[in-house]
Amino acid sequence: MPPATTPGAQTGFVHVRGAREHNLKDVDVDLPRDRLVVFTGVSGSGKSSLAFGTLYAEAQRRYLESVSPYARRLFRQMPVPDVTAIEGLPPAIALQQQRGTGTGRSSVGSITTLSNLLRMLYSRAGHYPAGMQRLEAESFSTNTPAGACPQCHGQGRIMDTTTQLLVPDDTLSIRQRAVAAWPTAWQGQNLRDILITKGVDVDCPWRDLPEKTREWILYTEETPTFPVYPGLDHAAVQRAIHDHIPPAYNGTFTGARRYVLHTFATSQSANMRRRAERFLTATPCPTCHGQRLNPDALRVTLAGLNIAQMTRLPLSAIARTLAPLADGTLQPDDTPQAGEATAIAARRIATDLIARIAVLEHLGLGYLQADRAVTTLSPGEYQRLRLGTQIRSSLFGVVYVLDEPSSGLHPADAHNLLDALMGLKATGNSLFLVEHNLYLIRRAEWIVDVGPDAGTHGGEVLYSGPPAGLRTVPNSRTAPYLTESTTPIAGTPRKARQWLKLTGITWNNLHDLAVEIPLGTFITVTGLSGSGKSSLVSQALPALLSRALGQKPPEDTDTENLEDRPIGTPQGQVAAGLSAVKRLVMIDQKPIGRTPRSNLATYTGLFDTIRQIYAATDLARARHYDAGRFSFNLPKGRCPTCEGAGSVMVELLFLPSVYSPCPTCHGTRYQPDVLEVTLRGKSIADVLDMTVDEASTFFADTPALSAALGTLRQGGLGYLRLGQPATELSGGEAQRIKLATELQKQRRGHTLYILDEPTTGLHPADVDRLQIHLQSLVDAGHTVMVAEHDMRVAARGDWVIDMGPGAGDDGGRIVAAGTPHDVARAQGSRTAPFLLPLTG
Ligand code: ADP
Ligand code: ADP
Ligand code: ZN
Ligand code: ZN
Repeated sequence: MPPATTPGAQTGFVHVRGAREHNLKDVDVDLPRDRLVVFTGVSGSGKSSLAFGTLYAEAQRRYLESVSPYARRLFRQMPVPDVTAIEGLPPAIALQQQRGTGTGRSSVGSITTLSNLLRMLYSRAGHYPAGMQRLEAESFSTNTPAGACPQCHGQGRIMDTTTQLLVPDDTLSIRQRAVAAWPTAWQGQNLRDILITKGVDVDCPWRDLPEKTREWILYTEETPTFPVYPGLDHAAVQRAIHDHIPPAYNGTFTGARRYVLHTFATSQSANMRRRAERFLTATPCPTCHGQRLNPDALRVTLAGLNIAQMTRLPLSAIARTLAPLADGTLQPDDTPQAGEATAIAARRIATDLIARIAVLEHLGLGYLQADRAVTTLSPGEYQRLRLGTQIRSSLFGVVYVLDEPSSGLHPADAHNLLDALMGLKATGNSLFLVEHNLYLIRRAEWIVDVGPDAGTHGGEVLYSGPPAGLRTVPNSRTAPYLTESTTPIAGTPRKARQWLKLTGITWNNLHDLAVEIPLGTFITVTGLSGSGKSSLVSQALPALLSRALGQKPPEDTDTENLEDRPIGTPQGQVAAGLSAVKRLVMIDQKPIGRTPRSNLATYTGLFDTIRQIYAATDLARARHYDAGRFSFNLPKGRCPTCEGAGSVMVELLFLPSVYSPCPTCHGTRYQPDVLEVTLRGKSIADVLDMTVDEASTFFADTPALSAALGTLRQGGLGYLRLGQPATELSGGEAQRIKLATELQKQRRGHTLYILDEPTTGLHPADVDRLQIHLQSLVDAGHTVMVAEHDMRVAARGDWVIDMGPGAGDDGGRIVAAGTPHDVARAQGSRTAPFLLPLTG
């Protein structure tokens, strides 16, 4: 036997020594391989820093050392972890919490490889019209030139304008800028003057102009040239032409639609393109009708459906449709040339497809359509999809590192997730899970509890071993939740002060749905994954209510790309109670900023006050420094080398670029003379380096700051540094910062707060604290509505709306609505059995 290099090393274990990534405090820990290992701890305690930042990062680093430099560049490389030694580490695959990213072309079908199989099936076993040549599998792909629709290039949609967009107000005249899409300033006047030459009445309301004229101005593709005489009316222009008076210039006319499309496609200026985009909307491609494929491919069918129609079905329906092909009751093709070999191939492919879909159904994903863009999936759906795909690919000897695979999953589906994980383990793999779900934590084979608290107050491994042993660990925040509680936690529900009623809601799987919202209460919307909670809570309600309230619709930062935005908007109306609602506020988990220049202090507005305080010091006044001098985003005071970023990017050949501290300001972001201004011995850079806790002590006597800092601390964010870049914050942290900022605003007038699964990424102890926060909003007279799977949250709320009964087309209805106590006893509700023990 080779000598063990670590004293006391056991086989079958991964040995970590001296892990110091982020907040980890020189951690030593041994983790079993071939087991379900769950990392627990409050948010910010260091679980991800250990599981992803250390273990996965090290596994990836070792793997990448073995591949060619060229291949290395194709990976999104993690930074090299700060750790002394790791032994016994198998190759790792990470399934992280991230939204499906990329080109917008990845779909459920493509990332699960189901699309490949379907293309093979259509190519080999499809029904071809008489006389048509068989097509290659690529001809059924929207991503290949051979397969894509020639008009929309596989997008399925084209960008175009509508009359309504071009002319939003038809009571205006052309001179009053009825054609809103036209450029402002000189070029707009030019177009107007051309129309005067042409004899169009530019002072007549748009709607009173002859239809033909309106049509031509908006939609002509001609670009005729006219002499322009600025300032003259039509009669004067005609006289001038008659008298051979030379025009000021010759102007070229461009129709409004042509102008918008041309600007959007070719303008170098991002501002111009953005302006043009306002007048565009996506419409289905007229050639392929949104089916994205070339006409030939669309003529090939299976079970009466072409491949576009097939991929539009939910996965479960695809499996049902293909079942007769797999069991041989349906012959692949009724044309004579389909031989025995084709039949065998078809049966094999169909069988494989059905088996792959079965795994995904088991993970509660059967309602997803194969053509659904991955960018529209929730992070939990995306991760389970990738998990399901891994299960079929049967790797061996790998450690899977997963981040909260339970997020977005209804308790009724939790045991299927556990089955799937155990299945991966049974084929010879190890599992490292960062999880908060109590069902999974209680069934772990090994728990690594990190903590006790967040940031600098965490970063230690409090316990590593089988779950039972954790119960007696004194500082553990997880221990109190290990045993299933048998005592009901539901309280006395509040009564509705008034009802907000919406009817006719139609969006995704919601069809003509009516919903009644008890104002002044805490409402939980429950239901299986795919039942329609998000469609209702974070899509339809915000769209309909913001419209009714005359409020700007909550912007959808996920789909910045116009091309990826859904066609259409939620339909429905507010039937009653609108006057009781003043405002709608959504608090989501999207980042508070996308660059390191935004941070906790800037987002919350704390930094404005801090800069003013520095500008008011004696030295700053003597030097005439204003608050702007203390901004790292303005040239006046920031370091010129890094332009206030504090770090500079160093490009390394074949390795990931790294950020290293700026050589000029050494990471302080400021010019030296700005740093000479101090407050009680601290410079502005020192303040940005303080945690919220530290700042709270430092600014204890500044009421404008201490209140806001106090709210952040109550939200469990005391460990964050004021200057912590937005890009380093987790989704849960971002959401709690938004919530704290919201609480700080002390809104007057009734506000409806909407949150979609706010407990994602939160430890049960964090959840308890979050709920106290949310309840305080309701105590202040507001309404809080959350889509949620955590039954402890639902039980402690005032009202439950349970969606279902199933997912996708089997869902979209309200199965039960009432107090937690009543819904827990409702017939036909999949949620009721899980709520029952908590409601007494
Ligand atoms: P958990 O997974 O338990 O929620 P994390 O490991 O994500 O905790 O975070 C542990 C600590 O490390 C927190 O204080 C967090 O703010 C900090 N942290 C996380 N990511 C980074 C990063 N990229 N750079 C610096 N600090 C980070
Ligand atoms: P839940 O929030 O309960 O998990 P969702 O509202 O996300 O449920 O989904 C309800 C139904 O609407 C599902 O059939 C889902 O596939 C469909 N759906 C949701 N979002 C989209 C979307 N962006 N594009 C197409 N279908 C969607
Ligand atoms: Zn097309
Ligand atoms: Zn610098």
